[in-house]
Amino acid sequence: MRRHALAPAGEVFRLIRGGEAATRADIASLTGMSRTAVALRVSQLLEQGLVVERTDGPSTGGRPPSRLEFHTSGGVVLAASMGASRAQLAVCDLTGKILAEDDLEADIREGPDAVLPEAAGRLEQLLAGSAHARDTVRGVGVSVPGSVDVETGRTVSPLVLPGWDGVAIPPYFTNHFAVPVLVDNDVNVMTLGEYRTQYDTQHVPPVGDLLFVKASTGIGAGIMSGGRLQRGALGAAGEIGHIRVCDGGGAVCRCGNVDCLEAVAGGWALVRRLSESGRAVDGVRGVIDLVRAGDHEALRLVREAGRRIGEVLAAAVNLLNPAFVVIGGDLAHVYDPLVAGLREVLYQRSTTLATRYLQILPSVLEERAGIIGCAVMVLEEVLSPRSIDTALAAAPPRSIARQ
Ligand SMILES: [Zn+2]
Repeated sequence: MRRHALAPAGEVFRLIRGGEAATRADIASLTGMSRTAVALRVSQLLEQGLVVERTDGPSTGGRPPSRLEFHTSGGVVLAASMGASRAQLAVCDLTGKILAEDDLEADIREGPDAVLPEAAGRLEQLLAGSAHARDTVRGVGVSVPGSVDVETGRTVSPLVLPGWDGVAIPPYFTNHFAVPVLVDNDVNVMTLGEYRTQYDTQHVPPVGDLLFVKASTGIGAGIMSGGRLQRGALGAAGEIGHIRVCDGGGAVCRCGNVDCLEAVAGGWALVRRLSESGRAVDGVRGVIDLVRAGDHEALRLVREAGRRIGEVLAAAVNLLNPAFVVIGGDLAHVYDPLVAGLREVLYQRSTTLATRYLQILPSVLEERAGIIGCAVMVLEEVLSPRSIDTALAAAPPRSIARQ
């Protein structure tokens, strides 16, 4: 393919942000553009606050070399991770680092009109408290516990909750902030957050294939394949909680089918079985407390749940051959007993090649996977070369574009 003589500013930004280019000379040699063309694009990025120029590098005698860097504090993004009973809110810098955060008790069953305006209002307060001006906000990322049409930011089908079907989420936030608002399912954003963070913390090159499992009240998975989040045709990919297991005993699932993985291994199923055995259990947290207190039945059920999850994951591993399987969600608080069973069955039933280098790891972000994932999601969009070029085209012209 022929190299284009003129790379747009968005592409130049990508090179600087990714650390591939640190000087104008780097950009010129990577893109083949003239010095004048490079200078114009760099000045646009400097004006937009996306890049900073530093001249404090090591001097080799003459004028110190000027280095171009991604300006990580050149704006903020806002994140709202809506859970079943609480919303997590944050102001983040342009790397996704949390600058300010807050929690909001919010029962999602009360409906979007009850919880979303409150979340948006609280984000306003959080932003004001963080001393960042409203015009520094570059985007808002929102997650909800259900399927979403990411093109429109509209919820699709159940959420198992009345009042949440077909709800357009962005307007609740664009009322407050006139910036792009991105919305996705909670497990997908957790996957994005973990994907980014696992590779940052493991210091390995991003091979691009990771499976994230959220084992909580329900069970769901997020799929990163070839470096991209796979949502499927209608955003329904990753619903491993509703894959049928063998010999499930006819357990009826929330979805109406029988022997779904969730119905035998989901937090809600464990709560029900422990309650039936006469124990007082307060939700998934109650199951975790019982395991930690050494309750044999709770421990047995969690190990068994791990085996069941492993059974379904073995098929997913054979299909997708991920490099990492990351376990998150509330049940990851009892990681050892859960993963002992999971690992055993997963290795038994997957092909040798698919598991040769497979690593099973706990979530590194834990409670913050959703909120950081929301930030990562919106940053990937607003800092993409395409968005940068669109923003520059809409910016007031400061100079006639020259080559
Ligand atoms: Zn089901």
